[in-house]
Amino acid sequence: SSQSALNFGAGPAKLPREVLTEVQSELLSYQNSGMSLMEMSHRSKEYSKINKSAQDLIRELLNVPDNYRILFIQGGGLGAFAAVAMNFMGATGTADYAVTGTWSSKAAKEAEKYGSVNLVFPKADKPGKIPDQSTWTLNPNASYFYYCDNETVDGVEFPYIPDTNGVPIVTDMSSNIMTRKFDVSKFGCIFGGAQKNIGPAGAVVVIVREDLLGKAMKICPTVFNFTQVSKENSVLNTPSTFSVYVMEKVLQWIKRNDGIEGMEKQSQRKSGVLYETIANSNTFYSCPIDQNCQSRINIPFRVGGPQGNEDLEEKFLQEAEKRYMYQLKGHRSVGGIRASLYNATSYEDVVLLVRLMNEFQIQHQ
Ligand code: PMP
Repeated sequence: SSQSALNFGAGPAKLPREVLTEVQSELLSYQNSGMSLMEMSHRSKEYSKINKSAQDLIRELLNVPDNYRILFIQGGGLGAFAAVAMNFMGATGTADYAVTGTWSSKAAKEAEKYGSVNLVFPKADKPGKIPDQSTWTLNPNASYFYYCDNETVDGVEFPYIPDTNGVPIVTDMSSNIMTRKFDVSKFGCIFGGAQKNIGPAGAVVVIVREDLLGKAMKICPTVFNFTQVSKENSVLNTPSTFSVYVMEKVLQWIKRNDGIEGMEKQSQRKSGVLYETIANSNTFYSCPIDQNCQSRINIPFRVGGPQGNEDLEEKFLQEAEKRYMYQLKGHRSVGGIRASLYNATSYEDVVLLVRLMNEFQIQHQ
């Protein structure tokens, strides 16, 4: 159908229409070259410009200080879990991890292959809370402290940047990068896959403080060695050129739409109206996450009471599809519904979802 879908998927996710149209117009002939960007050398002057522009835009939008390098690697978020450990664990052989959900749990597991991992608080049976920082057992000797800023599956987002007393902080921002302002200088390393807020799958953005480079473990594959990737300006080998090319356009789109402040404002509005609907539903809808760490980006909720009614949830998804709303099914490990509200999802899209929720409740409660 030519009607464009209302895509609430967790990733790969909705991209700005404007960007896709622009990509379409250049697909066969990039800037009158007679060939697609996909067909060009990663060492061409065209790609070099895109590579530089994407890095410059990230630096500008996130206000990245001069002593940080911006890299593009491959291997997805899962690859970055291993890369982080192999680049930084060598310092003392041990690292601290805060496990608040699915992705930080996987990251900790990956890191165990490369050193000793200390969980700063016990893993909860059910995610949905971040224990108070005063109860954490931080190791002052840790090579780094790791956490996931936004747990995509569980809907848990950190409301603050932890205080680690000087231990470098590494964070996974795969699902909330470019959705709110934050102080880059508080971090040793930030990474995020492109496929949610900033582009198609393929590239992973890494922002790393220079003094943490040069310490990778000997076994670290060259493509994951941040120092080597940085030396070669992210064209050490063939990068995912198409992903970086589209990402550069999404970054331009963010800049045109009032930058990170604009994205943050929209994100507050979008998640605000959805959480309000849940709160006003008299527990017909419910979100299992503590209020202080509810994600603005990925919002899991149950239908038909706090335990969820699977039949009603199935009906809800069917009704959603009738209204062109897709990819609302919760992650298989959590169940229920999950609405992902990335940058390209508009407030108007969310209003349509909220209307469905209100009408569905009247019909089925
Ligand atoms: N971290 C987070 C927060 C994610 O949401 C995801 C993917 N959904 C990953 C890591 C893993 O990314 P990938 O599938 O690219 O390995």
